[in-house]
Amino acid sequence: MADADGEARPTKTAAPPPTDASPTTQPTLASTAPSSAINRCIAEADRPTRRIIADVAVDYVSKTAEVQQRIEFLNREDGALDHIVLDAQANQWDDSFSLAELTHNGETTPYEINLNRLRFDLAEPLTPGCWLEIGLRFQLRVAEIRDGLRSYRGFFGYSPRQLNLGHVLPTVAARLNGDWRIHAPAGIGEQIVNAVADWEVNLTVDNAADTLQLAAPGYVAAQGDQAWTIRLRQSRDFVLSLSEEFAVAEQQLADGRTLAVYSFADAQLNDRGLIMDGAAHTAQEGIKALQLFERLFGPYPYDRLVIVQGDFPDGMEFTGLVFVGSAWFYGFDGTEKNYLTLISVHEIAHQWWYARVGNDAALHPWLDEALATYSEYLYIEEYYPSEKNWWWYFRVAVYLPEGGVDSAVYEFSTPREYINAVYLRGAQMLQNLREDIGDEHFFQLLRSYYSAGDGLIADPGLFWRQLAPDQQPLTVATRNEFLTEPAVYVEQE
Ligand SMILES: [Zn+2]
Repeated sequence: MADADGEARPTKTAAPPPTDASPTTQPTLASTAPSSAINRCIAEADRPTRRIIADVAVDYVSKTAEVQQRIEFLNREDGALDHIVLDAQANQWDDSFSLAELTHNGETTPYEINLNRLRFDLAEPLTPGCWLEIGLRFQLRVAEIRDGLRSYRGFFGYSPRQLNLGHVLPTVAARLNGDWRIHAPAGIGEQIVNAVADWEVNLTVDNAADTLQLAAPGYVAAQGDQAWTIRLRQSRDFVLSLSEEFAVAEQQLADGRTLAVYSFADAQLNDRGLIMDGAAHTAQEGIKALQLFERLFGPYPYDRLVIVQGDFPDGMEFTGLVFVGSAWFYGFDGTEKNYLTLISVHEIAHQWWYARVGNDAALHPWLDEALATYSEYLYIEEYYPSEKNWWWYFRVAVYLPEGGVDSAVYEFSTPREYINAVYLRGAQMLQNLREDIGDEHFFQLLRSYYSAGDGLIADPGLFWRQLAPDQQPLTVATRNEFLTEPAVYVEQE
């Protein structure tokens, strides 16, 4: 299909695979996993396309990690594969990723690695319905978060009080239309296109104080002293954050699910004796956003959502865990009218627009960023309706945004130009679409896009094809105004 990840979804079975909340079982250590020199062919109907099991041993003082990782990859396509491409994001940085060995079905295999692209040939083609096992042994060296564009990648970096490991475990690159879809990293925006995988990470941390806390998504089970197992199903990414200074606040939804905020003491501001607790504010507004977006878009599939105060600019979305930059906590004024609120809500919206409905973040960034930005407005409209005009001015109009909403990240030279075109004009375009077709059809559009793209990598055609034929002419003027290539989607009808 032209509109989505070409991989078929796993067949539904009467007994679904365990969720991230299922009781713990003894983890299988990657280092002791069985392997065989030949590809194996499918036995279980519910085997995921990608399964990743990693042992991660962090040295908290030297800011390094030794990793043994196993990836099982099932070929769900019609044709055989003669090579495999892995996305190894950590290798884009000098001295950050040292690969000691790659094995394929238990045998050491030569490979080529260039930035994030790690490729190896298969001795025996991987035929449809069969799966293979890839082993990786590598060291991560985490860099200090400094200034400049790289600071935005502080989700793989450390500050004096925080160690973040995001996008550091390689995964098999996405397959779209029978081809590998992987982009080289660039300075502006995101370039990651990941298909979902089931993750199990066995983490140990050495040389940290007893106060060390782990912030991680999914199901987290302590395995003794500074050791944990983390399981996360159907996720495009894996991330964790460690600190000896985290304070943890949890809020429960009525159904027992939890939202946890991991923050530092400076998330509480003292303004002439008045305490303003940014962590509590983020937790409270985060719950409200989660409930609203579930009602408007569709279910959030995990039992926990984690917000982490990140010592790097802006924020960053991962599946089940989002970072909100420390600067937004420092700017908290005790009200909802600030970037602490908006960025928290924005990153939570990415649980729908990115984590569930994936997209090519380099070529079609508006599919997640415009929708996440407009979701901020939906939150304001729901909970603070008297502030709707404030949002449009504070978040959008003040920047006089211009540029095509459907631009690729490579078309911009500054983050501001990128945000103006893709996020801000994107939000304006969605508001215009809503006015074109009316509230009922607009929210139906969002729900049907979510449902059609859930678990896949969507392209703009999937979004536009959710418009009914009689809605196409109603939206022509909006598409012509905001899109550089509006005709592409009309022709597909
Ligand atoms: Zn975003």
